[in-house]
Amino acid sequence: MIAALMPTYSRAPIAFERGEGVWLWSDQGRRYLDFGSGVATSSLGHNHPQLVGAITAQAARVIHVSNVFRIPEAERLAQRLVDASFADSVFFCNSGAEANEGLIKIVRKAMAETGRPERYRLICFEGAFHGRTLATLAATGNAKYLAGFGPVVDGFDHVPLNDIEAVRAAIGPQTAGILVEPIQGEGGIRACTPAFLKALRALCDEHGLILAMDEVQCGMGRTGRLFAHEWAGVAPDVASAAKGIAGGFPMGAILARESLAKHLTPGSHGSTFGGNPLACAAAHAVLDVILSPGFLDDVVRKGARLKAGLEALVQKFPTVFTEARGQGLLLGLKCALPQAEVQEALIQEGLLVINAAENVVRLMPPLIVSDAECDAALDMLRAAAARLHKTANKRAVAAA
Ligand SMILES: *Cc1c(COP(=O)(O)O)cnc(C)c1O
Repeated sequence: MIAALMPTYSRAPIAFERGEGVWLWSDQGRRYLDFGSGVATSSLGHNHPQLVGAITAQAARVIHVSNVFRIPEAERLAQRLVDASFADSVFFCNSGAEANEGLIKIVRKAMAETGRPERYRLICFEGAFHGRTLATLAATGNAKYLAGFGPVVDGFDHVPLNDIEAVRAAIGPQTAGILVEPIQGEGGIRACTPAFLKALRALCDEHGLILAMDEVQCGMGRTGRLFAHEWAGVAPDVASAAKGIAGGFPMGAILARESLAKHLTPGSHGSTFGGNPLACAAAHAVLDVILSPGFLDDVVRKGARLKAGLEALVQKFPTVFTEARGQGLLLGLKCALPQAEVQEALIQEGLLVINAAENVVRLMPPLIVSDAECDAALDMLRAAAARLHKTANKRAVAAA
């Protein structure tokens, strides 16, 4: 008989009861180091006093009013994001997919309103992940996720990442713009080179196209800058954010330049819950922490230190790990063994990680992680790798 909770995930058989900082406690009383952060979402870790305080206080005032009224918390939050980014205007929603869905709509509307309605197509990238709604699935382009869901939403062309000639060749009379993740998360921590992002910007400027970036996973401080594209010294025309934006409270956002945002006039887009007072209170608390002086620089430092530790592991256990990837606290280890075996061994050690494509396990601790906690994770990785190395050797001997 089917589970009452629809079985759309194959879940690890652990349930958590509470968390504190980077740690989670299971209902069996075991403590785990959370280097998954609920898929790069619990940016302040668990039970963060400022986040809990902000949510609790706002819940007691007013949770929801709908967007038919002014929402001062949302106006202030949008202003903070505008002040800290390339954007002139922000739309709030509830998830990454919803943000990308709106982003796609903005791109199409801007083209339609500027006399180019035939330009509705976006160039996207192999290995991308943009969400599970019908349009964002089409933008994702993964055949496995699309199968069985009827006609694929039209308007998305896929080319290899970091291949600027392929992008150039894909531009046609119907192209509206380019949609790219500066670092692909689900795709296996695959980064665009800074030169590639610069070349995309130049190509868009040359052809009058819109450069759109999906910063749902790599944004909101994950790489040690508010947005990952800042590292390349280029800015998009429109970007999506979600995951870490409200520290685990569901929220998404579209950030856009005025030239695009002005086309989403009243009635052209909406979201009942989007940017409600409770979600905004959570996001304000996250910004209070991650935009405080020195915080993001420390993410850069901690990330470089952790990555050096991962690189040492790759050196020491090449039968288990073949490559360390990523930037800031958006890191990955490419595995030589099936990632499910690696993940299982890590859970036995008490370390939670998240799988990605290309046989990569992702390490994305809360941004508040300490050096000592990173060292504890490295110890667990080392212990698991030592055990897995023995298994790999036994298998090699048996196969010989
Ligand atoms: C997770 C993710 C999404 C989808 O976000 P949801 O909140 O699950 O809808 C979109 N883009 C990227 C890059 C993501 O990592």
